[in-house]
Amino acid sequence: MRDLLILKRWFASVRMTRVPVKSIPVWIKLPGLSLHLRTPRMLSAIASVVGKPLFAEKTGIDGQRIDKKVARAIHSEVLSECEKWKNALVGYLFGDDPELSAVHNFIAANFKKYGEVKLFSLEDRPGVFVFVFETYEHGQQILDEGPYFLDAKPFVFKRWEPRVLMEKEAVRSIPVWIKLPGLSVHLRTPLLLGVIASVIGKPLYVEKSGIQGQRLTVPRVCVELNADSEFPDYVKFESVIDLCLPSGGVKVEYEGLPPHCKDCKKFGHLDDLTCPIYPLVHLK
Ligand SMILES: [Zn+2]
Repeated sequence: MRDLLILKRWFASVRMTRVPVKSIPVWIKLPGLSLHLRTPRMLSAIASVVGKPLFAEKTGIDGQRIDKKVARAIHSEVLSECEKWKNALVGYLFGDDPELSAVHNFIAANFKKYGEVKLFSLEDRPGVFVFVFETYEHGQQILDEGPYFLDAKPFVFKRWEPRVLMEKEAVRSIPVWIKLPGLSVHLRTPLLLGVIASVIGKPLYVEKSGIQGQRLTVPRVCVELNADSEFPDYVKFESVIDLCLPSGGVKVEYEGLPPHCKDCKKFGHLDDLTCPIYPLVHLK
């Protein structure tokens, strides 16, 4: 409920009607404002271009007023905020957004060795998370060592810096796990799995063990896919001599394949009106 309740003192001649007023307090939102600009003083400086700042949500403001129609940055404030966020990574999944608790579990499972990791969600960018590490190097290791997955969907990470887009930015390539169900047992070596997967993309990892006790699991390979790839359901697998290869090809299943756009050749949206680059192509 954000409607404004106007109160006035009663006295004998007061008009008991809705009388127009000259000024009114209104909450304004600043969606997408970069993290290093969110201090109360900076919010006040920005808001003062629109009107007289009264409060910043949850925190007090010092009432600093700049009487020009341009908000002037307070250098020391911006620089100290940059320092605060410099070890941060921005991360997101394509598709449905995970619960915050699921991301906390993801951190516990994957980032234990990096010490404390502070996690923030963004009210104005649902599904985008900020991970603040104790050191810059920890964030760098995560960028270097990935990929990471949550519910089989690839977690996209980028380093926070003042110009970074705090949104689910579409990407040209992404790591995806592929399964090769029904593949004959004599074809399940890491080398052969890599050969098959290389038809689809760049093989990154083969799942460590296809053997769990007495159970042979479905072979899985992590592959870096380009958005303009074909994503075939079957891969032809041939040999010059008879090695009993599957005549109809090797069946391929994709886990958590994000939406992809053939027009701008990126993962993150479909090739329909949601494409920010070529939406008009689809109106024809
Ligand atoms: Zn597109």
